[in-house]
This record gives sequence, C-alpha cells and structure tokens, in this order.
Amino acid sequence: MARTSPALETRHVDQLRRAVGDVITPDHATYDDARRLWNAMHDRRPSIIVRPTTATKVATAVRFAREHGLEIVVRSGGHSVSTLTGPEGCLLVDLSAMRGVEVDPRTRTARVNGGALLGELDVAAQAHGLVCPVGVVGHTGVGGLTLGGGIGRLQRNFGLTIDNLTAVDLVTSDGRLVRATETEEPELFWGLRGAGWNFGIATGFEFRLQPFGPDLHRGVLTFPGNQAQDIWGVFRDYAGRAPDSLGMIFGIDRAGPDAGYRDDVVGRPIAFIAWNHSGAAEDVDRDTAPLRAGPEPLTTTIGSQPYLDVQTAHDLAFAWGTRSFIRSHYANEVRPEALDELAEHVATAPAEGSFSITALGGAIGRVAEEATAFTGRTAAFDVSADGFWTDPAQDDVMSYWCRRAMTIAGPEPGIGRYVNGNSDVGPEHTQATYGDAKMARLAALKRTWDPDNAFRVNPNVAPQPDRPSA
Ligand SMILES: Cc1cc2nc3c(=O)[nH]c(=O)nc-3n(C[C@H](O)[C@H](O)[C@H](O)COP(=O)(O)OP(=O)(O)OC[C@H]3O[C@@H](n4cnc5c(N)ncnc54)[C@H](O)[C@@H]3O)c2cc1C
Repeated sequence: MARTSPALETRHVDQLRRAVGDVITPDHATYDDARRLWNAMHDRRPSIIVRPTTATKVATAVRFAREHGLEIVVRSGGHSVSTLTGPEGCLLVDLSAMRGVEVDPRTRTARVNGGALLGELDVAAQAHGLVCPVGVVGHTGVGGLTLGGGIGRLQRNFGLTIDNLTAVDLVTSDGRLVRATETEEPELFWGLRGAGWNFGIATGFEFRLQPFGPDLHRGVLTFPGNQAQDIWGVFRDYAGRAPDSLGMIFGIDRAGPDAGYRDDVVGRPIAFIAWNHSGAAEDVDRDTAPLRAGPEPLTTTIGSQPYLDVQTAHDLAFAWGTRSFIRSHYANEVRPEALDELAEHVATAPAEGSFSITALGGAIGRVAEEATAFTGRTAAFDVSADGFWTDPAQDDVMSYWCRRAMTIAGPEPGIGRYVNGNSDVGPEHTQATYGDAKMARLAALKRTWDPDNAFRVNPNVAPQPDRPSA
C-alpha cells in the first residue's frame, strides 16, 4: 500500500483538507476505490487524492503539490488508454466532484465542468435536440477525450469534439486561472486542442452544439473472415466519396455465440462494415447502397435508434475493471493481403482482440492540419488494434497481440497517430503522434505555460525537445 509521503506532515495534509475539502490518504477506507482507474491494468498509488469542487480549489491543490514536490496526476473520467499512472506518492487531482453540464438552447452552447462524463453532455444537449460530437462510451471523461481531439460516431458530419470547442478554463502550473479561446490566449487554445493535458488542468469547457436527433440510423453487415479483402475493397472505394453524414468502420472480429451466426461460424473470424448515418432518414438507403453492394452478408442489422440509447449501448460491455491495450495509427491505404493474416491473428487472439479501420475525412478533414495541435486531418483512415480481457495473466500476451496486429497491418505511413488511441506513450510515441513541426511548437508553448513540466503524467511534450521528461 502507498504511504503518505514522509516529507509530508499531517499538519500539511490537514491544511490542504481545510482549503480544498475532500482529501483522501492511503489510510482512508475509501482510498482503494478512489485511486482506481477504468483500466484495471493501471495500479495508481497516490499519497494524496484531492477532490476539489471549484477551479480555485484545483489551483490550491496544484500550488500545494508544487510546494511539497509532489508529482501531479489528473483524473476526469479515469478512462486513460495510456499506461500512465504517475509515480507512487503523487498527488492526484480527481475532478469527479466537478461534474455537470449546462446547455443554453438559445445560443446552442454547452458549458461543461472539467470532471463531466460524455453521457452528461449527450443527455443535456439532446434535451434540446442538440448534440456535441463526442466518443462512443458514456462514462468516458469529457476532459481527457476533448484535450486529445475526440473521435466518435458523428465526427465526419460535425467535426471532432475540439472543432466544436470554443473555450477552456484552465488552472496553470503556477496555480493561475486562465481562459483560452480563439481570441484569448489563442496559441494556448491551439495546443489545448490535441495535446491539452500538457498545459494545465481544465476545469471547464464550452462547446458549440449542433441540431441533431433524436435518432441515429445504423447498420452492421458481417461476412466470413476469408472475404475480408473483398469487403475492404467495397469500404475503401466508397470511403473517399461518401457523404459527411455517414460514419463508417471496417473491421475484423470473432463471431460471438449469441449474435445470430450459423454454428459453423461461431468463434471464427468475421469481417464487418458498420455505419452510423446522422442525416435525414430518407437519405439513408441511397447513401449506404454502395456499402451494401458487396457479397451476401452472414448477418444484416439495419435500423434507427435513439441517439442516447446508442451512446450508452456499450457502457456495460466496457465496464470499469476491464483490462485493455490499444495501438493505432493513421493511414491512407491498407495492404489488402495483410487482412488475411489479420483475420488469422484475430482468430488466434488469446482473449478479445479486434482490428478496425475507421473512415476519417468529411468535416474532420476540412479543418487545416495546422489549425489545432491534433494530427490526422489529412488522413483517410484510423487503423486500430484493440484488446480487452479480465485475467491479469494475459496482460503481456494481449499487449503483444495488439502490437503484433499493427505490425501485420504494415509500417506506419508517418502521418501521425491519434493520441487518445494508443496505450504506448513514451517520448518516441509522442513524437510519432505530433511530428517534428508540431512538437517544436508544443515545446515552445510548454516553456511558456509549464516550464518545469509539472504536468508530465500524460502523452508528454517536454519543455526542451532534446531533454525528454523523466
Ligand atoms: C472504454 C473507452 C472508450 C473510449 N472511446 C473513445 C472514443 O469513442 N473516442 C475517443 O476519441 N476516445 C475514446 N477513448 C479514449 C479516451 O478519449 C481517452 O482515454 C481519454 O484520455 C479519457 O479521458 P478521461 O477523462 O476519461 O480519462 P482520465 O484517465 O481521467 O484522463 C486521461 C488523461 O487526460 C488527462 N486529463 C483528463 N481530464 C483532464 C482535465 N480536465 N484537465 C487536464 N488533463 C486532464 C489526464 O491527466 C490523463 O493524462 C475511450 C477510452 C475508453 C477506455
């Protein structure tokens, strides 16, 4: 069990408690629950957990950590994909007491507190027939997802989550409260949209909302895994000319036992095409026809569902306590022959392992690559291998499985990676995410806002590019 740092006296902790309120140390009954992360692989052992309720209290916690030489770790939704827990004895700023979303239907805007979850934003916006494009699991944090970009079901139509972001309220490394928008601290606002965790703790976000809903039109077609090349051909040929309202994924998975497959297919690899159509119901048939032009599917599921139901449909499947590893990169093409090997790789995964190719483009690609720190505006696809399991004995073998899948998929084309879609986050991975020019610009921003690299437990940009963080 972690101990309160020896340099920290009880009176210091009491002082912090008086200033901030909820402070949990390793001797508390709730400590083990409070230090948990969604991914059970991560064992985070802070010496102090603070749960501030205001930005001022967040600032107090930051100043306290810096005065006492404690590493700062931040938690919003706790869904961190990357294996970043912070060192034993760190101070964890847990924003889970700063939830809540306010929507102004007149201005079509949302004000979101730093610890809010995606589901809160979805519900509050849909109450007025509005939406902010976010991720696909309701209990993910708005904080971590937004500061990395935000990819989900509606982004080809409405842009990334950050493309709808208009303001961030931030507590900086010296405990100041700063607001960043297109016009106030615009360079900071640039960096917050794609590499945001590096510059402070976001206590509030403001988003532009789009009219949408209540239904999302969806389809999933599955095929035997040995048809993966043909199905990929159908998908790839259409992805570049599909309307923005169509979000599309090609994937390879294993046929589950209760999903309506023939007995001889269950347990075998399948290829699939899945879509989310966020346009008018009467356009769906026309817009999805090219995706239905391939061979006869094994199973076909087509229909409409309330968006809010879709957004929470996977909340249980991705429950807290899952173990997970993800590797991904952007690509403009995937070698078709690799797909046969990937089907075999999926078939022999020691646990749940899948491979997917998400079509980007649309509204995502109409924002200039230089406009935000996020990389990937010009990429056609996000290529990803995802592993999920529960047995700790499979940690290494499943991490290896994901890395190996991406090796089979082919060498990285060097057009970046989605920072929120990668469990590996060493300096070389951050470099591969942002590339030389953006890394230099981010490092300059870091020197301005966090010269001591107080916020380093994240996909980290070191203040000096030639001096990687510890
Ligand atoms: C089940 C699951 C589904 C996912 N689905 C999607 C998806 O559909 N689309 C997508 O784009 N991504 C998705 N992700 C990835 C997700 O966006 C990232 O893991 C994200 O960082 C999680 O944010 P969080 O606040 O929940 O996590 P946390 O673990 O709380 O934080 C993650 C990182 O962000 C930093 N951080 C969080 N909040 C703040 C803040 N307010 N201020 C400063 N720093 C902060 C933390 O320091 C940490 O480095 C998913 C992840 C999981 C586990």
